[in-house]
Amino acid sequence: MVVAKGVAEIMNDVASPAQIAETIGSPPDDEERQPARSAARCARHKPRIVIVGGGFAGLAAAHALRHADAEVVLIDRRNHHIFQPLLYQVATAVLSPAEIAAPIRQLEVKQKNLSVMLAEVTGVDVASRTIEASFPEISVRKIAFDYLVVATGMRPSYFGHDEFARYAPGLKSLSDAETIRAKILGAFELAETTDDEDERARQMTFVLVGAGPTGVELAASLAQMVRVTLSGNFRRIDPSKSAIILLDAANRVLPTFVEPLSRRVTRRLANLGVKVMTGVTVETIDEHGVIAGGTRIPSATVLWTAGVAASPVPKMLGGKTDRAGRALVDPFLNVVDASGVFVAGDAASVMQNEHPVPGVAQAAIQEGRYVGRLIANDLKGRKVERPFSYFDKGNMAVVGKNYAVLERGRLRTSGFLTWFVWAFVHILSLPQLQNRLRVQRQWLWSYFTGQRSSRLIPEPPRTPGTETR
Ligand SMILES: Cc1cc2nc3c(=O)[nH]c(=O)nc-3n(C[C@H](O)[C@H](O)[C@H](O)COP(=O)(O)OP(=O)(O)OC[C@H]3O[C@@H](n4cnc5c(N)ncnc54)[C@H](O)[C@@H]3O)c2cc1C
Repeated sequence: MVVAKGVAEIMNDVASPAQIAETIGSPPDDEERQPARSAARCARHKPRIVIVGGGFAGLAAAHALRHADAEVVLIDRRNHHIFQPLLYQVATAVLSPAEIAAPIRQLEVKQKNLSVMLAEVTGVDVASRTIEASFPEISVRKIAFDYLVVATGMRPSYFGHDEFARYAPGLKSLSDAETIRAKILGAFELAETTDDEDERARQMTFVLVGAGPTGVELAASLAQMVRVTLSGNFRRIDPSKSAIILLDAANRVLPTFVEPLSRRVTRRLANLGVKVMTGVTVETIDEHGVIAGGTRIPSATVLWTAGVAASPVPKMLGGKTDRAGRALVDPFLNVVDASGVFVAGDAASVMQNEHPVPGVAQAAIQEGRYVGRLIANDLKGRKVERPFSYFDKGNMAVVGKNYAVLERGRLRTSGFLTWFVWAFVHILSLPQLQNRLRVQRQWLWSYFTGQRSSRLIPEPPRTPGTETR
């Protein structure tokens, strides 16, 4: 049985340059995709596969390597995997963070050749086949690898306006979702207490910048919350009178869907009370609100649901990247000129039939699984001849209760049945059985009562001795 080294052992087992040279052998001198077998064959230790990122792609790669006679080291700066498609429900108080997350370390129980490390990768040296990882409260350590899989995903991009980030949080992590939830719920509390009519209107105006799936789903869920969940909860304000504005520079919502579906979604949003403003560019976001298309919109809650850019790790590989910072990879997801170094998921720029493979969970899972299998085969001395091929299972977006849209090839559907399929697919895709059971229970509760069980505004930490009582 393959027994993984302990984390401490791996952290201390940093190869010296001489050892590294011994480990990896000579670098490939032709342009062919070189299997990293020279490293794998080395008898000094079991080949080490380092996977950076415990998202969809990283976990799929690790799983595909479960039978490999190798040390698999999975590094993530978070201790949990997030099911990002439901983050918007945490931001709008439907679900609590734990319901859509799973501890990555739990994988060690099931997969004996796997070690999990909580660390942030801060450097990659492809030539010496080492990565640099920063361990919280410990130090920066180097870790040698024989194969490297980078699956570090994306982060919000403010298109060169990083100053917007202070006023308009993006939605990428659980803490982002909790920040947004606290902002939304806090705005209603302030609206209830203020005597200033303009300020009340500002607190009750919510602007979402970006009308892709995240913006649409978040806006629709917020509209449902103000009309149903918060109804009757306040004496001085009527939450259903809130303004929810969805802005985008593009000329329609959901630009990755076909136009007829996009039109249906616009109508549906209007029915829910969301004002859609397309073809409008955001010029400023500040403490007062937004200036878009030359008009100021006073708002205390501006949310960024627009652009994304790759994490900095793909750039550290030294190869080419696209404009969003994703690594350009060959059809085998291998970084060109870096044998045994792969990029999977959102961090990779993969072309198929002259079209980019979309940055969605299914693509990340399929790419991660492909890379894992490719490495497992390489370890056995088998060369994989078939390049990665993405199988598109379809694109979905949910627009409030009882309504979703689906596009799959020529199939385009919308309405209640599509929503039901969306709910079913999402329940099944959650990472653990306990997530599935908990989300199912919360959804049933919300569906029949209109209530949301996670309406919490966290208290700020108090310094002992400063309390009034
Ligand atoms: C709000 C939101 C809603 C979405 N909705 C949908 C949807 O409905 N359907 C769909 O198909 N897709 C959806 N997506 C897209 C989907 O979630 C992504 O395509 C998918 O998560 C990509 O998987 P990944 O493994 O490449 O990256 P991720 O899942 O983002 O995982 C990357 C991992 O890398 C870790 N990491 C990053 N940098 C470092 C570092 N330097 N060191 C260590 N660890 C690091 C991160 O902590 C993270 O765990 C949504 C995304 C978001 C943000």
